[in-house]
Amino acid sequence: MEILKKVIKEKAKVLDESVLKVDTFLTHQVDINLMDLVGTEFYKRFSNKPITKVLTLESAGIAPAAFVAQKFGVPMIFVRKHKSITMDKEMLEASVHSFTKQVTNKIALAKDLLTSEDCVLIIDDFLAQGQAALGLSDLCHQAGAQVAGIGIVIEKSFQEGRLLLEQEGYHVESLARITSFENNEVHFLNE
Ligand code: 5GP
Repeated sequence: MEILKKVIKEKAKVLDESVLKVDTFLTHQVDINLMDLVGTEFYKRFSNKPITKVLTLESAGIAPAAFVAQKFGVPMIFVRKHKSITMDKEMLEASVHSFTKQVTNKIALAKDLLTSEDCVLIIDDFLAQGQAALGLSDLCHQAGAQVAGIGIVIEKSFQEGRLLLEQEGYHVESLARITSFENNEVHFLNE
């Protein structure tokens, strides 16, 4: 997605050889017009699938996932990383090792939000080692729901996430695929 690549080139900061900071348009401040275009692009790429729910992980996945859900006209669910006292329903749980925080979190979803009737599109901000997407798909399987595909805003193709997800049989679509941060610059696939 050319406009996304342009914004990454202009605004993202390479923090080290594997982490990109995108807090001015995606993970802290959100560029709403860009997210609207992201929603439209994912809609185009998955519109042949009978999506009933869009699933993401709090917090950085929420902005893109909301726009994707709006385009499909379906609810967006964000899976929780932290237990709250309002989570009094029966919950499904999975473990996810966080690439950026280097801790393992239990992620949780109210059991009644997904059923075996659901066809789920998983959306996330980044794909690194694939653990967040695998945790989300684990929750879908526990609920008996079908995973239609996985949509990623920024994929770091030099990490093994895509390979892992494809080995599990998932259809992965990424809007920007980064091959390296050589010389502190972002290099894209097919550049
Ligand atoms: P994975 O589970 O694929 O290893 O990592 C994906 C998750 O880690 C995403 O949900 C995202 O929040 C975070 N993440 C991974 N790499 C980066 C990065 O380079 N920058 C930022 N801001 N977040 C990242």
